Amino acid sequence: MALPTVVVVGAGQAGSDVAAALRSRGFTGRIVLLGDEPEPPYRKPLLSKEYLLAEPAAEDLELRPESFHTAQGIELMTGERAVRIDRDARRLLLASGRELSYDHLVLATGARPRRLSVPGADLAGVLALRTLADARALRAALAGTGDLLVVGGGFIGLEVAAAARTLGVRVAVVETRDRLMGRSVSEPMARHLAGLHTERGVRVLLSEELAALHGENGRVQVAELASGERIAADLVVAGVGVLPNTALAADAGLEVGDGVLVDARLRTSDPLVHAIGDCARFPSPHARRHLRLESVQNAADQARCVAGAILDPAGAPTYDAVPWFWTQQYGARLQIAGVTDGHDRTVTAGDPAGGRFSVFCFRAGRLLGAESVNRPADHMITRRLLATGDRSLTPDVVAAPGFDLKHRQFQPA
Ligand code: ADP
Repeated sequence: MALPTVVVVGAGQAGSDVAAALRSRGFTGRIVLLGDEPEPPYRKPLLSKEYLLAEPAAEDLELRPESFHTAQGIELMTGERAVRIDRDARRLLLASGRELSYDHLVLATGARPRRLSVPGADLAGVLALRTLADARALRAALAGTGDLLVVGGGFIGLEVAAAARTLGVRVAVVETRDRLMGRSVSEPMARHLAGLHTERGVRVLLSEELAALHGENGRVQVAELASGERIAADLVVAGVGVLPNTALAADAGLEVGDGVLVDARLRTSDPLVHAIGDCARFPSPHARRHLRLESVQNAADQARCVAGAILDPAGAPTYDAVPWFWTQQYGARLQIAGVTDGHDRTVTAGDPAGGRFSVFCFRAGRLLGAESVNRPADHMITRRLLATGDRSLTPDVVAAPGFDLKHRQFQPA
């Protein structure tokens, strides 16, 4: 019998990791890793941070060197786009006209930035940030920019704002909601972040909307807000969230809905097709609902889970990794453990004024997670508590004088 073939669509973190995990766990069949970008897999988190300040060494940017793929017998096909899945024939059709047969297919197609829909959004100087090509263009543009307008006060927007400010660019951030990072952090943390940015001279405009962009000779010059205010902007970066790449799955008749829908073992509605990373919508035991997560943690852990499932379908575990996220803005490293939205109480521990503290988030007295600024121990311990289901950390415990998570004893797992 011929050896089985796994085809992975998407050569980002999730795709690259599943290919590597299959080999490291002893898969001897054929592995094809297909990506539509020209570069071998690279590290995305850098692109909105250090990369904007200085060109990193090639080895710091690449996820795995090209030689790794050759050595591991992973057929890396860059600049190749999958256009159709023929599930009956178990074949994948590529834009180049090539066809690949598969026994297992892993969709790791990621997400793309949402575009601005205001008049003028297609002017030159209006950028988004997702890929290495986007980051190159943004870094080049920042070098000649006087006034940057960031649209969206989420992860990408604030990281770009911090980098641009560090480069000496004048920066304004416009956010439709009444606080920054509304999707991801608690109110006290959002206020802290707003403080970090305003202290450094970023103009943070909350509950405000972009109405139009105006240009000269096809290049953006001025942003008009819904309030009627006009602000100078010779560069605009949209950080208004992403849309999962689901067209390939949907066209093949797989279930989709803000992501490719998968079960607790990350299988789509076709048992031979898995979906992982930013494109996958899965049932999360930690959030007790379906989630689509955009993080390296999620991509890497889902990749490992699916590699295990392909190697041993009968023993496939359910995916239950604790979600965590991080961002770096100026000197503040914010780490988030757990899914904290829906909390009804927060308790802050540590020294917010000194920039080292954690906000613990609870619902009905139960710990949902923690947001830690420059307090890595709180982050790591909270991840462990969430993983083991330890219920001992209550709001009263955190609020008690002298509380320090590092010095507590915990229930054994
Ligand atoms: P990203 O990964 O792009 O940073 P997030 O979801 O973390 O995505 O952040 C996107 C932010 O953009 C959210 O805070 C959201 O409220 C905000 N946003 C969405 N649309 C607009 C808009 N048209 N103008 C301003 N802010 C917006």
